[in-house]
Amino acid sequence: MDEIDDPRIRSVVIVGGGTAGWMTAAALVQHFRTAPLKITVVESSDIGTIGVGEATIPTIRRFYGQLGLRDDDVMRATQATCKLGIRFLDWSGPGSDFIHPFGLYGQDVKGIGFHHYWLKQRRAGDAAPLAAYSLGAALAAGGKFTLPSPHPPSQLSVFDWALHLDAGLFAQHLRAYAEAGGCARIDARIRSVELRPEDGFVRALTLDDGREVEGDLFVDCSGFKGLVIGEALGVGFEDWGRWLPCDAAYAVQSENRPGDAPAPFTRVTARSAGWQWGIPLRHRAGNGLVFSSAHLSDDQALAELMPHLLGDPLTEPRRIPFRPGRRSQAWAKNCVAIGLSSGFLEPLESTSIALIETGIERLKALFPDRRFAQPILDEFNDQTAREMERVRDFIILHYKLNRRTDTDFWRDCREMPVPETLERKIALWTARGQFVRYRWEMFHPASWLAIYDGFGLYPDHHDPAVDAMDPAYLARSLAEMRANIADLVARTPEHAQFLAGLDPAA
Ligand code: FAD
Repeated sequence: MDEIDDPRIRSVVIVGGGTAGWMTAAALVQHFRTAPLKITVVESSDIGTIGVGEATIPTIRRFYGQLGLRDDDVMRATQATCKLGIRFLDWSGPGSDFIHPFGLYGQDVKGIGFHHYWLKQRRAGDAAPLAAYSLGAALAAGGKFTLPSPHPPSQLSVFDWALHLDAGLFAQHLRAYAEAGGCARIDARIRSVELRPEDGFVRALTLDDGREVEGDLFVDCSGFKGLVIGEALGVGFEDWGRWLPCDAAYAVQSENRPGDAPAPFTRVTARSAGWQWGIPLRHRAGNGLVFSSAHLSDDQALAELMPHLLGDPLTEPRRIPFRPGRRSQAWAKNCVAIGLSSGFLEPLESTSIALIETGIERLKALFPDRRFAQPILDEFNDQTAREMERVRDFIILHYKLNRRTDTDFWRDCREMPVPETLERKIALWTARGQFVRYRWEMFHPASWLAIYDGFGLYPDHHDPAVDAMDPAYLARSLAEMRANIADLVARTPEHAQFLAGLDPAA
């Protein structure tokens, strides 16, 4: 076949070298290692990257595992600590505290979900908290960490883990991987995007020095601005600010306090009109405040953030405005948006990097040829939109269920109407203690259970099949599960000890 008739894509240009750009480059290099595909990343060291994005969920480990990278190597390269979940402080008022772990609760019996047994016992006055049935939550609360067993003896020992990592170091690590696999890199500012007059497809990028970079497929990883998808192709943006009122953040790095052991969880503390994150890394910590600028001035935001850092500040606080929502189409013509260019949800559940991963998976699964068949674009756009809406609903849930009474911000969030898809979930939970599962859910029922319980929303009924179980037997079984977990926690080393074992020189 002549090259001219061959519809295969020969050249992919990745626009931007932040976390999204280098993750995409590394994954495509690996996926197409034997194919004649040229991959080029264009980034500008003058412009730089957003540089935050340090808390992840366990899918990150599957992502770099597919590249053949090992946990310990990535952890060393990125100054990472281990993350077993997210600790929510003060979301139901001062002193309230719960952990959303990566993992399961208790043990299902006879095909009935554990939480129904637990709900029955709770109504009968058994006060043992849900967290006592989660190994992940109990390890996190105890500051412990070990690798999960690859063959857990029972559901009780199932938990998962993710990383807190230095975003800049992670991008560098992936860049080295991609470049070693043949990816080209151009460090230059993109001046304009050239479209083909006949069909409006992207033909090339024009750089500041006048060079042109042509390609068949352009992956827009240019960050919030969406240089290609938004500015050049004019794809619009669906704004979700009516459900997610926070629209700005201050980010600041801090020193680690000598003697402070890094927590194996991300800390998210509710403040007067938003929330503060604390992310422990091995060489420093990441901190920030996500807030609603309609409710809090910049000075007030800084006054809430700065006294509560994980250590003395290392950098000046950086203001990052954002708009919650998604690009109306993540894929238009020959441009696929991945990362912040495709939309943004505040990092309350550390989902942005995970959405980059699924965007890349989708691109690999639906990789087109130069005909860019419409069904491929439609499927990509549909999956991307649905997945983002599911994550959006999960984040809105936290605001909707908050029980703070101190400010209008929190009262308004509690009273706001939520998307119908979320309304159905909350309704089924309160009516029957069950979970609605739509397509492309990132969060499993155990995560929804963690949030419902953490915010004190319980159903009116549990599964009636549970009533057939002898109450004394049920009480005994639950006590055994708790004892089992407590025993596993007691035998697990400290998180700091695990980290020290990674690097004998540390
Ligand atoms: P960027 O990092 O902005 O990269 C854009 C790239 O495009 C850069 O290389 C830049 O140089 C290049 N570029 C732009 N314009 C041009 C041009 N004209 N010419 C040449 N190059 C150009 N995610 C998580 O998963 N966990 C978190 O804990 C988390 N916390 C966050 C906290 C905040 C406050 C924010 C705002 C985001 C957070 N995120 C988090 C999201 C995460 O930071 C991003 O998903 C991730 O960094 C990907 O960014 P990106 O690569 O899409 O964009």
